[in-house]
Amino acid sequence: MKQHLKFDGPSCPGTMSTTWSKCGKPVCACKDRMPSLHGPYYRWTGFVAGRRTTRTISETAAAECKRRIMNYRNMQKLLDALLRDALDRAPWIEETARKTRRQAGGGKRGERR
Ligand SMILES: [Zn+2]
Repeated sequence: MKQHLKFDGPSCPGTMSTTWSKCGKPVCACKDRMPSLHGPYYRWTGFVAGRRTTRTISETAAAECKRRIMNYRNMQKLLDALLRDALDRAPWIEETARKTRRQAGGGKRGERR
């Protein structure tokens, strides 16, 4: 089975989340008994240069980020499949298979390569 990695546009690692929050003002709608919180705020979380990083981004950037994160996950799934396949054909497995074939065909003659 030969598979190629296909990339459906740009990708982005990480995760997205949406939050609502209260602000620091002493009097604000977010402090009411039936509070209307500020937001939504769109957050991207992921690793940048090895450090877990969270960024608050615009709604437009968030929508694009979600699309790219999906691309990234599809890419990972494909890569996982390729690596599983690679392990099924690992050098030690091919070696064992050759030995088994040789042993099984030990009784017969004339099947030399
Ligand atoms: Zn507020």
